[in-house]
Amino acid sequence: MSSTRLDTLRAAVRDVPDFPSPGIVFKDITPMLSDGALFKLTIDALVETVAGSGVTKIVGIDARGFIFAAAVADRLGCGFVPVRKKGKLPWKTEGVSYDLEYGSNKIEIHADAVLPGERVWLVDDVLATGGTAAAAAELVQRLGGVLAGMTFLIELGFLDGRKLLPEGVDVAGLLVY
Ligand code: AMP
Repeated sequence: MSSTRLDTLRAAVRDVPDFPSPGIVFKDITPMLSDGALFKLTIDALVETVAGSGVTKIVGIDARGFIFAAAVADRLGCGFVPVRKKGKLPWKTEGVSYDLEYGSNKIEIHADAVLPGERVWLVDDVLATGGTAAAAAELVQRLGGVLAGMTFLIELGFLDGRKLLPEGVDVAGLLVY
């Protein structure tokens, strides 16, 4: 994706200070969703990072991650796998607890959502401390899946979330702050 197009996306991210708690600058991506051309450009940029990887499933994280991951899966003809907050998935699950930039959380995946040996890619909106993505990676690996890569629309580089991510996994951050 050209730097001009990435600049267009960057300009659409709205910084909301002190949300959801004091000291957090929340990256609001809803302006990229509400404009059809911007939403298409966003998905174009995400798809470029995954295309050619040979993955058959895209994993998305509750809740904003679903929006991007499902659209990428549709474009690439891949399946979509939701990783959800505790207690939301109805079938047999695997779960992992982890710390967030604000608070803590537990996420779950359906035990049959990824097949052993299946190549998958994770797409999420924001890489902050890396705890969520690392936990999601652990879930995929517990099911025997091969996590080929991860793409984040926004990477908060100053939090160095990459240090928590597994080695050998391709990591792309489109808009780095
Ligand atoms: P983390 O586990 O710290 O990497 O946080 C990742 C998740 O928390 C992402 O899926 C985001 O949805 C959300 N998140 C964390 N920090 C922010 C932020 N500053 N702005 C928007 N979303 C955030």
